[in-house]
Amino acid sequence: MHEPIMLNYDVLSESYYLILSFLLMGPSARTTCAQSSGLKSNTYVNTVGVFIRGYVTNLGNGAVQEISYPETNGHNGGTRAVHRKALLKALEEELPNNSIRFSCKITGIETQSHEGSSIAVVDLEDGTSIKAKVLIGCDGVHSVVASWLGLASPVHSGRSAVRGLAAFPQGHGLVKQDVYQFVGAGLRAGFAPLTDKDIYWALDCASPANGAYKGDPIAIQREVIENYAKDLPELYLDIVKHSDLSTLSWAPLVFRQPWNVAFGNLSNQNVTVAGDAMHPMTPDLGQGGCLALEDAVVLGRHIGRCVLENGELDSREIARALADYAKERRSRAAWLITGSFFSGWVQHGGSLVLKFLRDSIFYKFVLHKLFNATNYDCGKLT
Ligand SMILES: Cc1cc2nc3c(=O)[nH]c(=O)nc-3n(C[C@H](O)[C@H](O)[C@H](O)COP(=O)(O)OP(=O)(O)OC[C@H]3O[C@@H](n4cnc5c(N)ncnc54)[C@H](O)[C@@H]3O)c2cc1C
Repeated sequence: MHEPIMLNYDVLSESYYLILSFLLMGPSARTTCAQSSGLKSNTYVNTVGVFIRGYVTNLGNGAVQEISYPETNGHNGGTRAVHRKALLKALEEELPNNSIRFSCKITGIETQSHEGSSIAVVDLEDGTSIKAKVLIGCDGVHSVVASWLGLASPVHSGRSAVRGLAAFPQGHGLVKQDVYQFVGAGLRAGFAPLTDKDIYWALDCASPANGAYKGDPIAIQREVIENYAKDLPELYLDIVKHSDLSTLSWAPLVFRQPWNVAFGNLSNQNVTVAGDAMHPMTPDLGQGGCLALEDAVVLGRHIGRCVLENGELDSREIARALADYAKERRSRAAWLITGSFFSGWVQHGGSLVLKFLRDSIFYKFVLHKLFNATNYDCGKLT
């Protein structure tokens, strides 16, 4: 079992959906599917949960507000949960055997000129080096590649999140398409059934001074039950108690300043970044992973064009392709970092004014608009 990631790709174009579906189906389903005209893979349906409704309970007064997520239109959209493991496995299956080197940490990068073109030399922790025509840093929040490009380090939002996956082998009996949220002063918690037996849960709060997120899973579970979630309904506590300990994590929520993404160096010669390495954001709109997938499509399109036009991966042309990719991504990423931060700030409802804003305006009028920002067509792969 592995923690899931929510993907909202109501918004993504048909071609993008095809890419993701094909990724999630696995080679055999893909072959069958490619031979037929549609994408009706059972593998796909089994892998993800689709969410339609949300219920937000105000822990202060017990009021419940109903919110709706962008609706699923046939196979083309909706907010879905995908197991990270399934996504990673699908990506891995696309690559030739032995093309991945596991457990090798990048420690340094330099570029060298070779017959008028630039080569990236990547130094690894084990002392070896790799020479690459293109280097795309997908090395997450604390990206070595981003810092080589000169992007500022991400900043702490002051909040942290704990999340986990609960298992109910006999079934949990909840409606699968519903998401439940609980908001209090400085605390937001929620859960979403993924299958008849698994429930994803999360809780976000002001970062604990004692660094509880560094603790072991048993300590994390105890801290949530006895402290942070003690005023939440019994059902929530029961879900946390059913956690698969191997899935529990507690991490500070960080983001890159949006102006740093809007105006910073997102590429240089044949080096660029994608995913959290480019645009770490707080998870309040559930868009970090979605944006990483969009990056992959846009980057694939620009590099693909470069190869088609030159008949090969021409190192001299690749700098232009990466610059075009960075240009296309920067405003969207900067905007979503801002929207996510705003969403988290309001929903935490620290002061009376924020609580009023959250309860009377945000859920009724603003959240929908923010969700609409996920309504984005990142274009076709070719
Ligand atoms: C609490 C929480 C909830 C979230 N919920 C959602 C959600 O519902 N929907 C959504 O779309 N997104 C969500 N996100 C965001 C999402 O998890 C990230 O945006 C996504 O994982 C980014 O993927 P990535 O591949 O860019 O980075 P990562 O998943 O962080 O992967 C980076 C990889 O690089 C490796 N690495 C790091 N440093 C080095 C190095 N020096 N050398 C070599 N390798 C290195 C790491 O080991 C790792 O394998 C959430 C995030 C959090 C914190």
